[in-house]
Amino acid sequence: MSDTYLEIANSSLGRKIFSAMGLPEPVALVREDPQQPHRIVGQGLFGASQGAVYTSQIKAVLENSGMELCEEGAQISGNLIFDASGISSAEQSTQLYEFFHNNLSSLGRCGRVILIGRKPSASESVEQATVQRGLNGFVKSLAKEIGRKGATANLLLVDHGGESALEAPLRFLLSAGSAFMNAQVVVVSAPVASIEADWARPLANKTLLVTGAARGIGLAISQVFARDGARVIGVDVPQAEAELQAQMQAIGGLALPLDITSEDAAQVLRDFCLQQGPSLQGIVHNAGVTRDKMLSRMTDHQWNMLMQVNLGSVQRINKALLDTQLLDDGGKIIGVASISGIAGNLGQTNYGFSKSAIIGMVDSLAEPCAARGITVNAVAPGFIETQMTAAIPFVTRQMGRRLSSLGQGGLPIDVAEAIGFFVSPQAAGINGNVVRVCGQSLLGA
Ligand code: NAD
Repeated sequence: MSDTYLEIANSSLGRKIFSAMGLPEPVALVREDPQQPHRIVGQGLFGASQGAVYTSQIKAVLENSGMELCEEGAQISGNLIFDASGISSAEQSTQLYEFFHNNLSSLGRCGRVILIGRKPSASESVEQATVQRGLNGFVKSLAKEIGRKGATANLLLVDHGGESALEAPLRFLLSAGSAFMNAQVVVVSAPVASIEADWARPLANKTLLVTGAARGIGLAISQVFARDGARVIGVDVPQAEAELQAQMQAIGGLALPLDITSEDAAQVLRDFCLQQGPSLQGIVHNAGVTRDKMLSRMTDHQWNMLMQVNLGSVQRINKALLDTQLLDDGGKIIGVASISGIAGNLGQTNYGFSKSAIIGMVDSLAEPCAARGITVNAVAPGFIETQMTAAIPFVTRQMGRRLSSLGQGGLPIDVAEAIGFFVSPQAAGINGNVVRVCGQSLLGA
């Protein structure tokens, strides 16, 4: 569904009218060029606090990225990157203030602020861990100031050994693929598997399974995977078979019509994958439904049916994959949660429960899976333009779109790009993360 307000706000006549009337003017975000995805363009300024420890790794990535790296003080219009890992006291926080205070005018339309700090466990003292936590509030507040430019701010927290895995998250945040990811904290840990680096086609030779692949976000995930070189196995309900077949054929993928809540679903899915090849490199648990009702009026069917799609099937399929060697060592498990699972939402006790449990899956599975080189992460989308949100009443839909720092809803491809980053071999240092793709929605911000 298209966002007419956003379209008018970005037309030349609309811009004049909106500006004269003082109406909010959300900026049309720049997404990946389908012909040249992952290309990093534009200019950037890099700064570092005294005693910063990740500077050499960050500078090496920035210099190799394709971005034009400029000296502080240069008049640019682009990205601002700051290594704040040396800040250990209230006095030293002035260095953070000064870099952004002096350079914020250099932040371009749809530019990126990327802050790099230390995970508390990687801090050298209680004082340092205390002060580093301040970066979280700084990034989230700054994101609110710069959202009207279509710009975003995100924080990378580096754990012990994580500096060797910084390239993938830095590149992703600098790319157009992260356009709708805003005010997020990503923890970068020591890689759990080897990092192969084909930045143009990161998923070449991978077979990846996506549930709910016939339409919406699942279809966008499948298309991004195929664009990045993967062979996709798309699963959706038998009623959507024709749509699923057509979509998978268009991307050279395989269609598996299957209701994931059926009793033998995990077995059918495992057998189908084994017929295609010895191993699977990742699974995205995307299929999901809503059955909104106030709890007092919710039927047990509305509770139980949703719970089986959004949660029960996910657990059964994970078990079937992990009990065997079908999922490769170095494989990826991705959950699709929701900001409803973080902040709660009126009429969504069932949905909120199921999506919060997906975050529980990440929390509980990430560490044991790391022993096999498998990472477990999730995205929590905010308002995304799909058939699911097209069914929301008009006023609520408008509020869902506008009540974010970027003033608009996201597109399925925004969620897909974040998942593409999670499943890439280069992201072997990203484990146990839940990242909101919501443009910094005010809901639960
Ligand atoms: P959608 O309704 O457009 O697509 C969901 C797909 O899942 C459909 O193709 C459907 O047939 C499939 N599916 C449902 N039940 C299934 C089953 N039992 N077996 C196999 N396939 C099944 O939804 P969407 O908006 O693309 O959402 C995708 C995911 O993102 C869901 O998990 C949803 O909860 C989550 N999400 C969406 C939004 C949003 O704003 N659209 C926000 C937060 C989270």
